[in-house]
Amino acid sequence: MADEKILIIEDEKNIVELVKFNLEQEGFRVFAASRGDTGLEMALREKPALLILDLMLPEITGIEICKILRQNPKTKALPIVMLTAKGTEADKVLGLELGADDYITKPFSPRELVARVKSILRRSREKPEAELMRAGSLELDISKHELLLNNKKVGISAKEFQLLRALMGSHGRVLTREVLLEKVWGYDNSTNIATRTVDMHIGQLRKKLGKESGRIVTIKGVGYRFDND
Ligand code: CA
Repeated sequence: MADEKILIIEDEKNIVELVKFNLEQEGFRVFAASRGDTGLEMALREKPALLILDLMLPEITGIEICKILRQNPKTKALPIVMLTAKGTEADKVLGLELGADDYITKPFSPRELVARVKSILRRSREKPEAELMRAGSLELDISKHELLLNNKKVGISAKEFQLLRALMGSHGRVLTREVLLEKVWGYDNSTNIATRTVDMHIGQLRKKLGKESGRIVTIKGVGYRFDND
């Protein structure tokens, strides 16, 4: 979709120029800020469709900006692409944990950046997720971050919430432990966090679901499935 606004927060002028030029060629409107604080202000004011965010910035770092945007209901779903200097594993994991949608390592090719931006925008348009997910007497309110069982609120941790959301949103497909790790914890296969973590959280979640706990079905040796009906 042409004419979408993209904000880039980056203190290296030549990178801003490069990104701006290439995205404008594709019909995007590009705004730029060179400092963390002014960039954050712009992100809130301009309501961009996507944010390209450098990690190391004057005044407020990209990590901080990411955290702040994810906590704000108005910007929590804003797609964010992190620009990282070295692409260390730590930066990458941290960025994804904080809710960045993707990251790009400098130096990058403009063509790759444009392709990633387009694919993230496509993805974010494709999944207008239901604000309310229901199954039997379970109700998961996405915007309020609440789980109701028989209309009563159930205390649930952030990870349990995300886990249940991933399961309920998969429409009966089996999700492997690896996929759940990636969706809920933001890790890829190269990080050696135990898949047992998933089993542990599933166990806790089942206890909270009471008579509806049977909807989370264990597929031996593979993962889990959620029976919506
Ligand atoms: Ca920088």
